[in-house]
Amino acid sequence: MPISMYPDTKTWNSFLGCKFDCKYCEKSFKRVLKRVGRNIGCDKCYRYIPHIHPERLGKIPSSPIVFVFGQGEIYFCPPHFVRKTFKAIDAHNPRKPKIYYFQSKAPSVFNLYLDLFLENQDKVILLTTLETNRDEGYREISKAPFPTMRFHDFFELDYPRKVLTIEPVLDFDLEEFVEMVLMLHRQGTLEYVWFGFDSKNCGLPEPSIEKAQKFVDVLHSNGIEIRGKSLRGVMLKETEK
Ligand code: SF4
Repeated sequence: MPISMYPDTKTWNSFLGCKFDCKYCEKSFKRVLKRVGRNIGCDKCYRYIPHIHPERLGKIPSSPIVFVFGQGEIYFCPPHFVRKTFKAIDAHNPRKPKIYYFQSKAPSVFNLYLDLFLENQDKVILLTTLETNRDEGYREISKAPFPTMRFHDFFELDYPRKVLTIEPVLDFDLEEFVEMVLMLHRQGTLEYVWFGFDSKNCGLPEPSIEKAQKFVDVLHSNGIEIRGKSLRGVMLKETEK
């Protein structure tokens, strides 16, 4: 079942599941997959165990943006299946050009498929989630690679089209976090940033609204486009192109 996570976007769930156990996943992806798993009788969906659904390879959603493995983490996907996924993308002939998002909290995994991404760079954007710059306390939130390592791997990735998802935002150090985003911006690879608070009341350590506002204002004043979700009153400005 394709799911809409962002405007104009639907997930393509031919691979699903994850073992990073983010605290905020319980009320979002895991909850949705519990329901789906029960409805379709898939125990691995129900328990969010990484697994493939090859019968969905030929069913690419009709949305302008396709979130590939949107309810899963590509880090846990068998490599042969990622390559099969690209064959399905190649074979797909949509009426209008599409954009494919590949997102990971372990972005070093993208290096395994860099040849495929580069061949398709007109339609592929790579994303990582970076909720904070802080490693301290992060194991309370997730088993994914620490934020500083994740940032390093994403920064070092030799790919020209990147998006940063800062959602759900966790408390951060203003200067350090701004500098991380600016480094990607100066690299010339950052297309935009998603920014938003936890919408599910998961009890996360969050920044104040004032700090979040300062953060987006500084990014904006540096010409970075920010798209928002669950903003709790934080104001985003139009970015001058
Ligand atoms: S990395 Fe994504 S899919 Fe995996 S547990 Fe965290 S939120 Fe869920």
